[in-house]
Amino acid sequence: MANKKMANKKMANKKPGPNHRDPVDRLDVARQTIGTSTEALDELRGILRIARIGSWRVSVDNLCTTWSDEMHELVGCDPRSFVPSLDALIQLLAKADRIKFQTAFASVVEHRQGGNIESRGNDTIGADRLFWTDMQPEYDPIGKIVAVRGVCQEITERKSAFERIRHLACHDPLTGLANRAHLSEQLDHILADASRRRESVAVLCFDLDGFKLINDLYGHAAGDEVLREMAKRLSAHIRETDIVARTGGDEFVVVQVAAQQPEAAQRLAARLLGELMGTMVLAGQSEVALSTSIGIAFYPDDATTPDDLLARADHALYGVKNDGRNNFAIYDRSMEREYQERRKLEHDLRLALQRGEFSLVYQPMLCTRRGTFKGFEALLRWNSLVHGLVSPEIFIGIAESIGIMGPLGAWVLRTACAEATRWVNPLKVAVNVSPIQIQQGNLAEIIAETLASTGLAPDRLEIEVTESLLIRNPERALETLRQIKALGVRIAMDDFGTGYSSLATLRAFPFDKLKVDRSFVKDLGEGSESLAIINAILGLGRGLRLPVVVEGVETEVQAAILRRCGCDEMQGYLLGRPSPIDRFDMITDPDGLMKNLCRSDTAPPGRTMAARPA
Ligand code: C2E
Ligand code: CA
Ligand code: CA
Repeated sequence: MANKKMANKKMANKKPGPNHRDPVDRLDVARQTIGTSTEALDELRGILRIARIGSWRVSVDNLCTTWSDEMHELVGCDPRSFVPSLDALIQLLAKADRIKFQTAFASVVEHRQGGNIESRGNDTIGADRLFWTDMQPEYDPIGKIVAVRGVCQEITERKSAFERIRHLACHDPLTGLANRAHLSEQLDHILADASRRRESVAVLCFDLDGFKLINDLYGHAAGDEVLREMAKRLSAHIRETDIVARTGGDEFVVVQVAAQQPEAAQRLAARLLGELMGTMVLAGQSEVALSTSIGIAFYPDDATTPDDLLARADHALYGVKNDGRNNFAIYDRSMEREYQERRKLEHDLRLALQRGEFSLVYQPMLCTRRGTFKGFEALLRWNSLVHGLVSPEIFIGIAESIGIMGPLGAWVLRTACAEATRWVNPLKVAVNVSPIQIQQGNLAEIIAETLASTGLAPDRLEIEVTESLLIRNPERALETLRQIKALGVRIAMDDFGTGYSSLATLRAFPFDKLKVDRSFVKDLGEGSESLAIINAILGLGRGLRLPVVVEGVETEVQAAILRRCGCDEMQGYLLGRPSPIDRFDMITDPDGLMKNLCRSDTAPPGRTMAARPA
């Protein structure tokens, strides 16, 4: 084009005028013009070949058909032997697409308007190949339609790339299940259908119990393995018409359609709880126990939009998580309040450290044989400005789940150690640590720093850990416990008897003490089952040369029985309720007895030296 313009310009400048060109000049121009158009044509052909675009033209009058070379190439016919025709064009398509093509062609002629179709190839040219054809009418100078021109492009790869992208956009790459966006979209249709048919739809939200722990303990690859297994088990237990999706980290949703509700959802939840659960072995090593909680909501009773329905099922789930997990619950309005309350609790708990709402109380531990106090267990208290006194049995679990147990545990450690350094009597201080703190891997470091900064002698600190820690990741826990022990700090196994740890694991861990759970003391009497258990644990302690502490001693009768059985240490309301440390001046300070006697608000220490309740 540019060449042509330049040539014209050159000619226009020549004298004596454009009509008096030199014949040689004219030949030049013609040659140049032909040259440039051949080049342009070649270029166009090249482009069409790369883009895999062929074209054809069919006259309307006699159906006389011509194909471009690229069209021959596209469908693999030899232009020297192949005679193009409309019929030949149609025969190239898969049988199922031929009528569609004919209809589109006829429509272009009849309505004088372009059209397009997507079609597959026949078995000869490839049934897996996809073509896109654009058709346009061609007119003569008076506007009569004379032909249909078609441009045909192979889109097999583009289409499959598109399908892959669409699949990626709608599915979770890890499990292959629908993702949240796709689920919402599907729910839209399902709810519209259900509304027409006046049917109910159940939405079941699943959340794996303790998934964060699995991730922390065994790493993300193991977590992924658990999620894939969960997806597989869920998919295997639902009907084809139902939907299963992964909507978040360890959250799954099942949508149950066309069933008699609420019975069907309840049956499904019960079945899933039973069959989904059980153990799974991670990549040939550790075995983990799977359990899940399920929240259920129904359309149209609980909500009418996908988002609301999912939110309600989630609130029901929240309730299950609070009430001990591994169960299912059906949404009801009262859950809304509980949900909001729990959210508020979480929110305020996050701020509690900053607001200085935590404190420690101390409960004395008595050496049974000598009748002297050996030390104190530090117990955390949250006195919230908004919620009042909240039990650690409630807030510790929440602190773990919202990820603040690390800093909170470090605070407890620092405060308890600093407190113990103030005691004139160098008694021990026992601090509870959550499994989360152990998993975080730097607990030994934190303890070492705390001892150094407070100046507390390591042998005065005792760490209490629960059995749950051992069941989940023995290797990691063992490593941390060994590091802690190497500092000279003692380690007690708390709540002994409530977990499942075997004698073998007990031997493998460097424990210094067993603390028998207080539940065994409650109905302790001569000949009781609890007594048999406590005796067995005491025997075990003697065998392993570990002192045994019994917690929750409330009565003289219980204390007398335990003394007779040879229990090493006791702890409980009888010997002192958990209280602020100044209530125990008489224990922490040898002169404290005198100080205490002078204080009018403190009961003088009796035979049991019981302190007043906090
Ligand atoms: P735990 O470690 O087993 O603590 C003993 C619990 O038994 C304490 O409850 C204590 O107040 C209670 N108790 C003591 N003597 C008696 C008794 O004679 N009768 C009865 N019925 N109960 C008695 P508390 O303080 O409510 O703590 C509950 C649990 O919260 C603790 O159980 C411990 O697992 C956890 N916890 C408390 N403080 C901390 C902490 O600083 N860090 C961590 N990680 N957990 C803590
Ligand atoms: Ca404890
Ligand atoms: Ca305990």
